[in-house]
Amino acid sequence: MINKNDLEMLGYFEMFQGSTDYMEDPVRFYSQFVEDKMLTKGNDRLFENVLGLCGESGEVAEKVKKLLRDRTKFSDDDIISELGDVLFYVVALSNIFKGNLKVVMENNMKKLNDRQQRGKLQGSGSSR
Ligand SMILES: [Mg+2]
Repeated sequence: MINKNDLEMLGYFEMFQGSTDYMEDPVRFYSQFVEDKMLTKGNDRLFENVLGLCGESGEVAEKVKKLLRDRTKFSDDDIISELGDVLFYVVALSNIFKGNLKVVMENNMKKLNDRQQRGKLQGSGSSR
């Protein structure tokens, strides 16, 4: 579990100094940040965002693959950076479909809690 001291060591609070919006609602702040960086507009955005998500997820997988195949090591920072790229596209798609990441997070927690309560965390199929 990350605590306040960890965040201070990472410079988390300095990074967003002066931005009370971030501290008040980080999810909404980041959603707007993603929108501000979005280059593709209109009908092409959905396709660009889905392809971006696949590509960035693939970059995470590629690093792990090279660890297995070539014994090429990666740092925690390498993976964190790629996960940030994945998150960017997850949030971009969240913005399109449900308005923000918070709804996606809440729906996912509800789904997984329900599966856990019914003993269905293992297995396959999205409607179990
Ligand atoms: Mg990347």
